[in-house]
Amino acid sequence: MKKISAFLFLAIALSCSKENPVGWVDQQRLNNQHAKDWLTLGGNQQMQHYSPLNKVNTSNVQQLGFAWEYDASTHIGNVPRGLEATPIVVDGVMYTSGAWGAVYALDARTGKGLWQYLPPVDASYARRSCCDVVNRGVAVWQGKVYVGTLDGYLVCLDAATGAVLWRVDTFTDRTVAYTITSPPQVAGNIVMIGNSGAEFGVRGYVTAYDLVSGEQKWRFFIVPGDPKNGFEHPEMEVASKTWDANSHWQSGGGGTAWGESAYDAELNLLYVGTGNASPYPIWFRSPNGGDNLYLASILAINPDDRRLVWHYQTTPGEIWDYTATQNLVLADVKIADKSRKVLMTAPKNGFFYVLDRATGELISAEKYTKVNWASHVDMKTGRPVLTENGQSYKDKPRLVVPYLGGGHVWQPMSYNPETGLVYIPERAVPQVFKTFDGYKWLPDVDNTNLDYGNMFKFMKNVPDQIKSAEDTLRSESLLAWDPIAQKVAWKFPDGGPDGGTMSTPELVFQGTRTGYFNAHDAKTGEKLKSIFTGIGIMAAPTTYEIDGEQYIAVMAGYGGAETSAYLPDGVAFQYQNTGKILAFKLGGGETPLPPKLMKIETPAPPANMVVKTELLEKGAALYDFYCFICHGAFGDRHLSQHPDLSKLPEAKHLLFNNIVLKGILKENGMASFSNSLSEEDVEAIHQFLLKKQIDNYKR
Ligand code: CA
Repeated sequence: MKKISAFLFLAIALSCSKENPVGWVDQQRLNNQHAKDWLTLGGNQQMQHYSPLNKVNTSNVQQLGFAWEYDASTHIGNVPRGLEATPIVVDGVMYTSGAWGAVYALDARTGKGLWQYLPPVDASYARRSCCDVVNRGVAVWQGKVYVGTLDGYLVCLDAATGAVLWRVDTFTDRTVAYTITSPPQVAGNIVMIGNSGAEFGVRGYVTAYDLVSGEQKWRFFIVPGDPKNGFEHPEMEVASKTWDANSHWQSGGGGTAWGESAYDAELNLLYVGTGNASPYPIWFRSPNGGDNLYLASILAINPDDRRLVWHYQTTPGEIWDYTATQNLVLADVKIADKSRKVLMTAPKNGFFYVLDRATGELISAEKYTKVNWASHVDMKTGRPVLTENGQSYKDKPRLVVPYLGGGHVWQPMSYNPETGLVYIPERAVPQVFKTFDGYKWLPDVDNTNLDYGNMFKFMKNVPDQIKSAEDTLRSESLLAWDPIAQKVAWKFPDGGPDGGTMSTPELVFQGTRTGYFNAHDAKTGEKLKSIFTGIGIMAAPTTYEIDGEQYIAVMAGYGGAETSAYLPDGVAFQYQNTGKILAFKLGGGETPLPPKLMKIETPAPPANMVVKTELLEKGAALYDFYCFICHGAFGDRHLSQHPDLSKLPEAKHLLFNNIVLKGILKENGMASFSNSLSEEDVEAIHQFLLKKQIDNYKR
């Protein structure tokens, strides 16, 4: 007996003395499913956003409270930005990213900062990002932290000090609007990074670099370029056969990979989800049609030699912004009594896919949300079966569901092996797709050719599609999905788009746009705990254990694509949208709230300015096209994120042209529009805003 305990003591002492170097994640640790840490963006190798930690459970989650907070607001300009990353925790140190690609390393027990990396990004890149200057996370591997910055650099940092070890330019062309918002993915001996910008008319690709030296190993283009210029790799020749030879090559084709990827070390396959088309309408992009590979697809790439091992296209000939960049979850499950290695994903198009991740074989696909563009997926061909020509909006506007935000966007879903359920932040939102006549690629602006028009005001254009009020209703939920049976297990309805999910054996955690951090029973969906934080939450939470205590942490900060298409119940209308990392633990205290938002009254319009009514219509259209994406709607529905342009003080009226055309507020992220707007255009926008201000001031 004594001998055994002495042996045990020795074993424990040995295991404790063998300390890992700082930020040490390797294949062995990932294989061991190191339960106390959160080693990848998705927690484990399988990217399940799941942890087996169960000290916080259904019996005690009531006692969850505030542990610490860390300021992760922006370092460029003074505008609060969205936070979308899932923090990684390795041996008590938390690593995560914020706006522009900033990296924060902190003590995960106390929230005390250890180091920061604040990349010197030119603020004008804000104008090139469709969906705020966000970043979706870092990768940590063998003492190094990798991040992609908004302006296109992949940076390798020393995990102990934050020192820059190397920094490489990942962009092929700096004259077009590429950005990076995606997390890097380690696969074998490389670190892979994608990019964003399909809305702005670019050609998507991913690039792999040597983990240690930063030397470029390979680049995989997602869509072909003009065949006249040859093909960069054999897959592009294959893909080019699915595009019209006379495609609008200048618009890049899109397909940018900006989501969470995954890697299976045993199969040595890197999985990448690819984005939507550029421009959206295929009749302008690839006039003779075609599947347009590899848009909206899952790619399985051998990271050693760049060869495409298999692909699955979710939405052939994509025209609805149906990206397949939504997070990819790997799992080993039993289907029809057979053990299967699967990849699961719920892309924007509304179907939940279960694929064999070794071969790409489609195992099943069912609608997880409301879908009207396809009736089902044909299991023989693996292709969606379109309804009414896929609600093509070529000849007339069409009501399409899911909307361009998808049935599920970037907010990670989680998979819980204990319940066997996937927890999806689901959205059922109908939208009228309406295109402009003709198409011309323009630099640095939205090149989708979609008339956004405040998103939902075009309902009047589709009377034949609206049979009852229900057809126009939007609904959102936390959806528990049984991926084997392909059906709903439970649904917790809510009124708007909420954050990513994280699950533990008994619980599901999710933050909301209304500023709550919630814990649900993983089996039933019952909301067991709700903590008010005062900050809109989009990111997915993380959990980890230090010295026997389980923590749950989340990045809180609203922004992203939600700023313009936003619901009035968002907490960002009441409290200052301060970017924070928040951590909770059992027996924790009250969560401190950010300061209340001051209501900005409409200032008196300048007395000497007279509205030129003949310019108002043009001004409204230009506002919708150029300004709405950031500045959004006016008045009560306006966020603190970007100034409400119907409330301009006199000084800004005087400087209006200098701001819009000369970029004098560039440091705040308001870059010059001189390459797309003329002085006459700017005057029309100004007149439209002045009229709004006069009307609001009178009220
Ligand atoms: Ca998109």
